[in-house]
Amino acid sequence: MSQNARAITLLAGDTPLRRIRDEILRRERFLLTSHARPDGDSIGSQLAMAFALDALGKRVRIVNADPAPEHYEGFPGMERIEIAPTVTADVDAVIVMECSDLGRTGVAGLEGQFLINIDHHAGNLLYGALNWHDESAAACAEMVFDLIHALDVPLNLEIATHIYLGILTDTGSFHHANITPRTFDICRQAVEAGVNPATMARRVFDSNSFGKLKLIGALLDSMELLDEGRLAVLFMDKGMLEACGCTNNDTEGLINLPLTAREIQAVVFFRIADDGSIRVSMRSKYDVDVRRVANAFGGGGHKNAAGFSAPGRLEEVRGRIIELLVAAIADGLQSRP
Ligand code: 5GP
Ligand code: MN
Repeated sequence: MSQNARAITLLAGDTPLRRIRDEILRRERFLLTSHARPDGDSIGSQLAMAFALDALGKRVRIVNADPAPEHYEGFPGMERIEIAPTVTADVDAVIVMECSDLGRTGVAGLEGQFLINIDHHAGNLLYGALNWHDESAAACAEMVFDLIHALDVPLNLEIATHIYLGILTDTGSFHHANITPRTFDICRQAVEAGVNPATMARRVFDSNSFGKLKLIGALLDSMELLDEGRLAVLFMDKGMLEACGCTNNDTEGLINLPLTAREIQAVVFFRIADDGSIRVSMRSKYDVDVRRVANAFGGGGHKNAAGFSAPGRLEEVRGRIIELLVAAIADGLQSRP
């Protein structure tokens, strides 16, 4: 149900996908954006969309609140992404991908625009003029793939690379519970268009600096195991980063490491942001639902990957978070065959 007065009502028989295709075809100038602290799916979805709009002869700007992690440098079109906290958009439509609410962009100045909202996160607030929300998509890039197909744009190497990047990263390199036959069908088409899966995996996952290896050591060394080894707790502050010669950009993927231990069912990763607030990221296996823990604190995400920001001090919220995680693990294990 739409919670937004600007939303266009679709006629019977129309679908969000078709309507978005039609509105894109009749408009000329686009601004693309996605969530702050971009990940592979936000980068991949935006750049695949940008290259598709190029193919249609449209004018495209991409604006993000934060730069992408370093290992995405060198992927096609990265230099096109403008980093700005606020934007004066002189465009015909803004396509927001991967954002359950507009605030997730971290970019101010988009509110009055013709917004096209494309997202696969649960709890999307349907803030756009057009809203296409599909929780069954393993990555937003799967939805972008469908849109590009509907726009009749062939899958060139740039587009295929970014679609594959979105899927590879948002499935946790094909580990999460959100993968379907369609995921592999899209990947098959991307590979047929020239994507090399081995190169992609190496570039995304095996591009650590020596500093990051040191950070992994420090982080795992201080890891706590709770709930009889089913829950791992990671903590990182600025001091640990600096001691290893790392920046916040080096923290991507670290949260997945504890899940490589057979017994560990869920991980929570506490980070202290520069402004003193707490960033909480969670990952889980199979049916352990960490999104419900994130929801309890005003965050969101997916069953196996979710997060939120918490105000106040870590000691004040930590106990409650752990309690909810232990309950989520118990429920998830119960439903495992
Ligand atoms: P990460 O732990 O990598 O930051 O996020 C994991 C997943 O949770 C991603 O799908 C991300 O979009 C979602 N997520 C992380 N933080 C937040 C948040 O503060 N609010 C919402 N709604 N989703 C979040
Ligand atoms: Mn995503």
